[in-house]
Amino acid sequence: MKITMLGTGHAGVTECYNTCFVLEDHGEKMLVDGGDGNILLRQLKRAGIELHEIGSVFVTHKHLDHITGIFWILRRIHQSAKRDPSFRKICIYSHAEVISILKTGYKMLLLSEDEDPEDDVTFVTVEDGEQRQILGDLFTFFDIGSERVCEFGFRAETPEGISLVCLGDEYLQAKGISYAQNCTWLMHEAFCAEADRDLYRPHRMNHSTVKDACANAEKVNAANLILYHTEDNRIDERKQLYGDEAAVYFGRRCVIPDDLETIDL
Ligand SMILES: [Zn+2]
Repeated sequence: MKITMLGTGHAGVTECYNTCFVLEDHGEKMLVDGGDGNILLRQLKRAGIELHEIGSVFVTHKHLDHITGIFWILRRIHQSAKRDPSFRKICIYSHAEVISILKTGYKMLLLSEDEDPEDDVTFVTVEDGEQRQILGDLFTFFDIGSERVCEFGFRAETPEGISLVCLGDEYLQAKGISYAQNCTWLMHEAFCAEADRDLYRPHRMNHSTVKDACANAEKVNAANLILYHTEDNRIDERKQLYGDEAAVYFGRRCVIPDDLETIDL
């Protein structure tokens, strides 16, 4: 399994793109979240990923920095579907709230009266704990337990024995512990370095410092950690700054990816 990070920042960043990424396994690709606009299309282009290669999409929650880019994907899909009769339908997975927003928004913003949102897209509502085979792997989607917004994450298990857990953009909560336990890779948000805690006050938004994220990774015995959804005030120093802090609080491998970086799991 391979991850290509399209964006690594929080909602308000300007020096990188909002957190979203492409997962690739067994020759298939899945987009996870879309960032906040059509810069998603630029990031895909820069990563060398064609839209028609993406067979599935998962959206964690309805916040603008995660859902808005999906409408640009829908726009492109709609254009391609009209031009190319062999066009492959894309499958979008999320919980009921996000699926409702995407279907309604697609219809209202991009389709004519006689067009149906399901013509080009298969919308799949997943429940808390539901399992699906995607990319040749077993995905278990789960409610991360946020009190701010309905937000889902997932645990993906490959037949080769690798497990990847994504917690969306909030810190590990009680609900996610059993899903994240003993995973090979944990994707956890880290808003800022511990030293900048009073400056950004990440906990107000259910976000963490690097130190907090490392403690959570230790708590679930994750073998490897990926930190994302960060502030961008010192983007050039981020890898070093966060990496140095993670080395103190997490005893195994921690990756702080830049936009467009790929990670082989
Ligand atoms: Zn976010």
